[in-house]
Amino acid sequence: MRVYLDHNATSPLRADLQSRWVANIEARIGNPGSTHREGQIARGMLERARQRVLRSMKGDSGVLTFTSGATEANNIALQSLRPGDVLVTTRLEHPSLRDVAEILAERGIVVRYLSHDSAGTILLSEAEDVIRGATLVAVTAANNEIGNFNPVVELADLCAKQHVGFHIDAAQVWGRYPFEIPAGTQSVTLSAHKAGGPIGIGALWAAKPNSYPAMTYGGQQERGRRAGTENVILADLMSAIVEPSSVNEAFEKWSATAHLRDVLVQGLMALGGLRNGDIANAMPNTLNISFPGFEAEELVMALDLEGVAISAGSACTAGSMDVSPVIAALGFEDARTASALRFSLGPQTTLEEIEFCIARVEEVISRGR
Ligand code: PMP
Repeated sequence: MRVYLDHNATSPLRADLQSRWVANIEARIGNPGSTHREGQIARGMLERARQRVLRSMKGDSGVLTFTSGATEANNIALQSLRPGDVLVTTRLEHPSLRDVAEILAERGIVVRYLSHDSAGTILLSEAEDVIRGATLVAVTAANNEIGNFNPVVELADLCAKQHVGFHIDAAQVWGRYPFEIPAGTQSVTLSAHKAGGPIGIGALWAAKPNSYPAMTYGGQQERGRRAGTENVILADLMSAIVEPSSVNEAFEKWSATAHLRDVLVQGLMALGGLRNGDIANAMPNTLNISFPGFEAEELVMALDLEGVAISAGSACTAGSMDVSPVIAALGFEDARTASALRFSLGPQTTLEEIEFCIARVEEVISRGR
């Protein structure tokens, strides 16, 4: 048996999208920039995809640029900052915000951090002071490692009152759970592959068309913001995730993972696991848990051999054997930080798989002890 519990790294392509992909290829569509019929069919497909994505988050008043994924979208969103500007973020972000913030700091952008407690909950009571005078605040809608839903509606409101831009990385949320762009938001990052769409496409939504510089030059595609022939087929597949006829069923499936996640929590806590993150307010599919005394990467490798795929932190930093900077920022003792594991479930996960997973963890841990 092989059990995949790493849906926050990527969630396998949905079966209905596989057949849609094949149908799109067989349709032999043209380049959306071409005048002929094949080109216009492609253009129509692209623009319908854009509208579907916009409508899914009530973002019709803004503009949507398709990108290669959430990493690119986060990078573009932060490129609007200039030396002397003030970026506010958290120490719990995905590397595509966290590392970019560090690079920007080297270029003279002032970076400040919102404070959080040991569960990773952002302290709204202190946020107003940190945000005051800032240029842009950038935060995830839900954390990819500990799963916490962040208070983006409240932060957007605080930012709007202080005339500060607000950027949301909704990579883990869009397509899985209902998501509407909060009033006062400047930009939003999306990714398709976290919600069963294809890897290699995402989007940046912006309230105003030109709030960030062009990423590439040399063509009029994406209103001149991202020159290069658009990836029509992937855009169509991304938009299929939020097709009104099926999106509610998808939301229900992602939310229903809570039940299995709770079975997993009970099983792993009985083995001595310590749960990390805001337990009452985490994504239903995500569990972050430590087994002090073990090294997280060693457990990940041992479980892989036993047939269970999980991770120790973001896939974008994995393989380094370093502790997760996100867990480190929660301020636990070293043994808890060094042993943090992420289990992330998907709509296809079954009770049998969860029971198999608990048994394998028990075996690996008792061997280690
Ligand atoms: N932001 C968050 C919160 C993520 O979880 C991820 C994926 N790990 C990304 C950004 C990057 O997404 P992509 O793979 O689409 O570049």
